Amino acid sequence: MSRTTLRSRGKGSFARGIHPHDWKELAAEAAIEILPTPAEVTIPLVQHIGAPNQPTTKPRQDVAAGDILGDSGAFVCAPVHTPIAGKTALPLRVTLPNGRHVDAVPVKAEGDQMAEQALWDDIFGGSWPTDGQDGLDADTILARIRAGGLVGMGGAGFPTHVKLKPNPAKPVDVLLVNGSECEPYLTADYRLMVEASAPIVAGSLLAAQAAGAVRIVISIEDNKPEAVARMRDAAAGTGIEVVATTTKYPMGGEKQLILATLGREVPTGGLPLDCGVVVVNVGTAAAIARAVLRGKPLTHRIVTVSGRGVHRPCNLLAPVGVSHGALIAAAGGLTDQAVRVISGGPMMGFAISNLDTPITKGTSGITVLTGQDVQAEEETPCVRCGRCVDVCPLHLVPTRLALASRNKDWNLARRYYLTACMECGSCSYVCPARIPLVQLIRAGKATMPRE
Ligand code: SF4
Ligand code: SF4
Repeated sequence: MSRTTLRSRGKGSFARGIHPHDWKELAAEAAIEILPTPAEVTIPLVQHIGAPNQPTTKPRQDVAAGDILGDSGAFVCAPVHTPIAGKTALPLRVTLPNGRHVDAVPVKAEGDQMAEQALWDDIFGGSWPTDGQDGLDADTILARIRAGGLVGMGGAGFPTHVKLKPNPAKPVDVLLVNGSECEPYLTADYRLMVEASAPIVAGSLLAAQAAGAVRIVISIEDNKPEAVARMRDAAAGTGIEVVATTTKYPMGGEKQLILATLGREVPTGGLPLDCGVVVVNVGTAAAIARAVLRGKPLTHRIVTVSGRGVHRPCNLLAPVGVSHGALIAAAGGLTDQAVRVISGGPMMGFAISNLDTPITKGTSGITVLTGQDVQAEEETPCVRCGRCVDVCPLHLVPTRLALASRNKDWNLARRYYLTACMECGSCSYVCPARIPLVQLIRAGKATMPRE
């Protein structure tokens, strides 16, 4: 594929947003550790946006690592696979961190498991070609991505083969690879870029080939100079641009990233496709390389376990389906000061009370906060200071959206574009009245009737 070497035309930032303390120092220097094979995993059959999977195994069936556990005939769907060898158990119902209730297949570990170093080599090690992608046509790449069950690993959960499939009415010219990781505390993507840059490059080339993009830009916030350097080294000679943007929350939001990196604007209610861009996360790019070049499904991911509420903040290569509690135990367990466990980061994550909840393909981190961190203050009436409006990166009016959600006033909600909110939490973060703006908006989005 011939690829242009045009430079990024964004200004490196976007209007509004916030600068919270990022707490990255807790885990940024912790090299990725490989979690020993757990005794059991519980694989949710639905970890994506789209049609639900049906189980493809029976209870008490022997399975090998990588075997498929659930699939559907739908296009907008991503199958799920077991990360460990073992025996399936009776399906059960689990509640995911976002509150969704889904069926899940437990697998109890039995027989030989891959040794830790072999697992690393299998997932990220060895050589990753940066040429020869032209020999793979888009349909083949997309079929392998679907077979591997890939979804956006930044948390969105949208099936990757659907996202990359070319739309003749809206062709894309740029593949934007998101290495921002703007959520406080999380360092999983950072460690991936530092320790396994080669599969990210190989996967980016394959993703661009599938989507028909002629330009690839990897965008990283400038608080991660080591990651920028590693990615530039790995991408040398490929034509891929590696761009450092200003560190600002929520830079990792697709619209903000596109504007800051490329200078293009996604219209309100539109998609990156509407301005010729498709965005994938760096973890997804690495998983694309593995699925396409090695025929391996998405069974493991890197998870940051951090916060002042755990003894040993770390980054773990963990099997999908392991419990949040098992990862917290691997991080030395909870400290006496721990008061809140969040699946994800503190801005966009979900507080959980059941530590048996399994992680999914989209779980990038677990943040454990202390009483000092949360300092719950009572909600007081809005003082009309306008700070929430000043920071909203989407130029929404959070006060109106929260009011509409609280009163179930769906006409008002629609008039103020409730569904456009990306739930970044910037408005709640700055509100001096401690009004839970994003929680109200999130609840409103979940309950507002569809037109
Ligand atoms: S209204 Fe939505 S998009 Fe705007 S700051 Fe609040 S959470 Fe973020
Ligand atoms: S930041 Fe809080 S107090 Fe200020 S206008 Fe917004 S909702 Fe009201």
